[in-house]
Amino acid sequence: MSKRERKRYIKRPSVHGQRAARRTAAMNKIRPRAVTRTNKKFSPIETSGEIFTTGEMLELVRDAADDEIKLIRPDGPNVSISARFVVNGKVFVPPTLDDDVMKAINLPSNAADYGSTEALFDDLRRLFREHPGLSEEGVSKAAFCALGTWFPECAPPLLLVSAPDASGSGLLLEQLRCACRRSVIIGDITRSGMWSLPLSLRPTIIIARPKPTKDLLRVLRAMSQPGVRVPQRGQLLDVFCPVAVCTEDPLSDSWLLENSVQIELMAAATPRIAPQALREISRDLQPQLLSYRLRNFVKVQNSDFDAPQLALSTREIARALGHCIVDDHELQSRVVPLLEEQNEDARVRRTTTFEAVIIEAALLFCHEKKKREWAYVGEFATVSNAILEGRGEQIKLEPRAVGDILRAVGSFTRRLGRAGRGVLLVNEIRQKTHQLAWRFGVRSIDDGFDRCGFCTEARTQFGDSIRAGT
Ligand SMILES: [Zn+2]
Repeated sequence: MSKRERKRYIKRPSVHGQRAARRTAAMNKIRPRAVTRTNKKFSPIETSGEIFTTGEMLELVRDAADDEIKLIRPDGPNVSISARFVVNGKVFVPPTLDDDVMKAINLPSNAADYGSTEALFDDLRRLFREHPGLSEEGVSKAAFCALGTWFPECAPPLLLVSAPDASGSGLLLEQLRCACRRSVIIGDITRSGMWSLPLSLRPTIIIARPKPTKDLLRVLRAMSQPGVRVPQRGQLLDVFCPVAVCTEDPLSDSWLLENSVQIELMAAATPRIAPQALREISRDLQPQLLSYRLRNFVKVQNSDFDAPQLALSTREIARALGHCIVDDHELQSRVVPLLEEQNEDARVRRTTTFEAVIIEAALLFCHEKKKREWAYVGEFATVSNAILEGRGEQIKLEPRAVGDILRAVGSFTRRLGRAGRGVLLVNEIRQKTHQLAWRFGVRSIDDGFDRCGFCTEARTQFGDSIRAGT
């Protein structure tokens, strides 16, 4: 074909298309793919998975025969595997991604019968029960979370594991890699490193004993919020992915604690399971889990499982995990008791946090240069919300809730004319506020020390070491 002829046949992509292609390539290190067909209708669409309105699906597999990444499509009771599928007149091919990255991601080689939901779940539990440091509760949590990763569309919760010893955490991370969808284990993370991964695959990111940096907390927060996008070089990245993190000490970030499932590993004897055995389990389990996803996707999407008895964030976690259990109400009902303790912890932590924040607001009012005689509940709410926002909390307190909390800490509100209710900042209240501030260990205790008699008094009385919960 002459140059001129080629020009006629190859349609130049639009400027926008070119730019988008360059950006995606840079982001995901896509190698240029030779497009042989020039008719736009038949140019292949790279996909890491498709869900068509008909319920038909495409998923990624690693073909055991040639180790190539291919697509799998359910075909009645069977499945077909191919490097390309034509669906509704469009050609779909697997994405071209960095070889090393793709090699590190665990993919099933096929789909295989899993028997029943209960049988599959029992297999998952059997896998995690091999860990000597996991309690029976931990085994169930790990199994529910692993199954949840097969439905990233349901927003599976972040899994936080704390493990005192490295070998114990290493084994659990390998077990999670066996059981989770498109799983990969990574070490230390930075934001730019994480955002350069092909997150559009919705891989399960398993993070092994990272340094507890600010970047880590930011990354975890961003990745745990479906629908939230991260601006990066003029793009808005959708970075939501199933994530499991294993740290030596439990993370203390209250937002992450409320929006995650937590497992504490006990220090235990040497792991009972060999790496080779784990690989074999993974080879068997992954195709069954893939089959579970392909067969039940629509049911999972339409699940109406709910746990209204739980507080908001824990309820969301229960729903995400419960939705992934199909045709087994008994198993589904086991999600709630598993989260009850965590629900109670979250409730207590939340109350304590809010009380402390409102006391901090009261302390600020006490320390204002021009002596204040009163503060309206609305003012308490404004200052408290500013404090919460400054700490990265996404919650806002309504004045009504603020009034309740003020009452709970013994600062009674009264009607202060037309502007509404408030607290009279008489000496008795100021003294009480200071005592509470010391008891809760609020962050601004040091501010008023030099000029405030109540601060001096409280410091003499309590010293510097009194903190909430001690
Ligand atoms: Zn003071």
